[in-house]
Parts: sequence; structure tokens; C-alpha cells
Amino acid sequence: MSDNDTIFGRIIRREIPADIVYEDELCLAFRDVNPQAPIHILIVPKQPVAKLSDCLPEHRGVLGHMLLKAAEIARQEGCGEAFRLVINNGEEAGQSVFHLHIHILGGRPFGWPPG
Ligand code: 5GP
Repeated sequence: MSDNDTIFGRIIRREIPADIVYEDELCLAFRDVNPQAPIHILIVPKQPVAKLSDCLPEHRGVLGHMLLKAAEIARQEGCGEAFRLVINNGEEAGQSVFHLHIHILGGRPFGWPPG
């Protein structure tokens, strides 16, 4: 287990179970264990990086890939054209797992500002 390993690293390596909805060579998507909407999926890069603000130009490809996949997964999971993507960056912004992830939320209306 490396220093930047987290629960998501263990899910990627299949050391703990998750309800996986999509996988390819760059990313994995699985249902959030504590859903905040009828559809709540997390998409994570297989190569661990703690948070968005740690990303470098070399992460451009995987970041773009994850965004495109997030829209595809949202459609596939029944969000229609209405869904929200969230990246919590840093503890004060609500990040609790320090392996970059995009929340895909759908299946209900969302307010603004997000709080
Ligand atoms: P964050 O607060 O870092 O933006 O989001 C972390 C998310 O990971 C939370 O929504 C939390 O419910 C989810 N989560 C934490 N541990 C697990 C787990 O073991 N399995 C799954 N599927 N989701 C988890």
C-alpha cells in the first residue's frame, strides 16, 4: 500500500467490493455507498492522484477522458440530459477521499448555490 493509497485504490484493485458500472484502462466508475441522489456514481482515475489541484499537464488526457465518460455514464444510467458533476477539492470543500473523483449526480432536481 503506497502513501497515497485510499479506499478507492482498494476498490480499483478489487480488494473491497463496489457496484461497478463502467471500467476501461484509464478509469473506473462505481456507485457511491452513501448516495446523495437517486443516481450517484463516482468516476476515478486508475492512476492515483490525490486531488484536482495536484494534476499536471500530463493528466490532461485522463481528465478529458473522465469528463467525456462521465457524460456517457450519466446517459447510460438514466440521468437524461439533467445531471450534476462535482469535484470536491480539499477538505474544506468537502473532499474526504484523497484519490481524485468526479461525482455524477442525477435523478432529482438540484438547487443553486450548492451550499
Ligand atoms: P468526497 O467527500 O471525497 O468528495 O467524496 C467521497 C465519496 O466517497 C463520498 O460520497 C462517500 O460516500 C464515498 N465513499 C466513501 N467510501 C466509500 C466506499 O468504500 N465505497 C463507495 N462505493 N463509496 C465510498
